[in-house]
Amino acid sequence: MKVAVFPGSFDPITIGHTDLVERACPLFDKVIVAIGINNKKQYLYSLDQRMNRLNKVFADNPKVIVDSFEGLTAEYCKSVGARYLLRGLRNASDFDYEKTISQLNQIIGDELETLFLISRPQYSHISSTIVREIIGAGGDASPFLP
Ligand code: ADP
Repeated sequence: MKVAVFPGSFDPITIGHTDLVERACPLFDKVIVAIGINNKKQYLYSLDQRMNRLNKVFADNPKVIVDSFEGLTAEYCKSVGARYLLRGLRNASDFDYEKTISQLNQIIGDELETLFLISRPQYSHISSTIVREIIGAGGDASPFLP
């Protein structure tokens, strides 16, 4: 069974994330959308709020499982039997960052492969950071939210 983990903060989940998951679904038997918990990070939404949102967004997709994890992503993948990581690329700075992480994960994750999907042009400007800034400034972020 081909299992991929799509790890992220999803603070909050955007239509850029959901588009990526939908495009990855035909490639895998199961896609685990997993919130990575980093205790040093300050989040806008609590883990419960983010989990609830993900569960709602993917409720009708039988291939998607929602989960959360602490610690190394590579260890989490091993624990759920996933051989693939899914990540999105919006621009060159995503690439620079993701390239290093992917190479590290291939070593520490025992040949864990990262599959990158390039974001659709209409979503490449969307990030959770921008959404948080809009919400923080009292704006309407709904065009970017699933
Ligand atoms: P992290 O804190 O791990 O970067 P995010 O929730 O910000 O978590 O992002 C998770 C993944 O989703 C990353 O691979 C990121 O590049 C990808 N992603 C985020 N926004 C978009 C988008 N608009 N289009 C494509 N991929 C995206």
